[in-house]
Amino acid sequence: MPEIKTLTVIGAGVLGSQIAFQAAFHGFAVTAYDVDAAALDAARARFTKLAGIYRAANLPGAADGNAEAALDKLRLNADLGDAVANADLVIEAAPELLELKRDIYRNLADLAPARTIFATNSSTLLPSDLKESTGRPDRFLALHYANNIWAQNIAEVMGTPDTAPAVFDAVVEFARNSGLEPIEIKKERAGYVLNSLLVPLLNAAAGLLLQGVASPETIDKTWRISTGAPSGPFQIFDVVGLGTAYNIAASSPDAGSQAFAKYLKDTYIDKGKLGVATGEGFYKY
Ligand code: NAD
Repeated sequence: MPEIKTLTVIGAGVLGSQIAFQAAFHGFAVTAYDVDAAALDAARARFTKLAGIYRAANLPGAADGNAEAALDKLRLNADLGDAVANADLVIEAAPELLELKRDIYRNLADLAPARTIFATNSSTLLPSDLKESTGRPDRFLALHYANNIWAQNIAEVMGTPDTAPAVFDAVVEFARNSGLEPIEIKKERAGYVLNSLLVPLLNAAAGLLLQGVASPETIDKTWRISTGAPSGPFQIFDVVGLGTAYNIAASSPDAGSQAFAKYLKDTYIDKGKLGVATGEGFYKY
């Protein structure tokens, strides 16, 4: 099984900075690549903020100075060849655009050592959509994190039919060693496990609300009491953010989704109510 000790993250935005920090916090040598100096400055600010979050959350190791050690260990680089020259694993967390990601993999195929494993953090693309551009389909798969990975610490591992089993196992091991619960997915599927479960729940809740069946409070209460879950679907909408919920609903051709998008826009978004982030959405915070 290939051994993973050094990681390079491509795209140090919301998720990339979290992926890089989490691995550095657990002792990996990590390089974060982004496109220019301004993007690297933004990444540096994100890392400093994450160190504060890890300390405040009292995560195991944070009291021993692991957050400061992680900050010291993280390297930032805007030269792609340099950034991946010594990488055992590259995790790509670039914007969710198919052609942009394919371009990145074509460059990586030339620049990274032959041993380097590539993983995409894409939420909506299948790894099969990208594998041909990597030049190494046997060493490529998806490794999908959830936002706020220090708390929502699952990592969904999903290969294509071409992914070598030893590569899959090495990435599962890497996820475990970087403090995550690896979720092994045996067959390629859009939405992985988490969104395959969550999206239908959220859609059903939206339908119940729009059809006037019950209020958000009643729907959430039903779900919480009957399943023991800590949050109901409208509480989850508020955490995800109503802007994101709107974008997803508006991009679906389905009439129910279109109606929900309009409802979100008229009732919340146009009034600046975007959920937890702005202090109000379906609930007040
Ligand atoms: P983001 O916009 O916050 O970050 C993207 C980063 O990529 C930016 O720093 C940007 O400068 C950089 N970038 C732009 N062009 C690039 C290029 N050519 N090469 C390398 N980097 C480039 O986006 P995000 O929310 O972090 O999402 C990144 C990926 O993670 C997407 O594939 C998304 O589906 C996935 N994801 C996001 C979330 C989430 O909740 N935000 C959760 C799971 C997975």
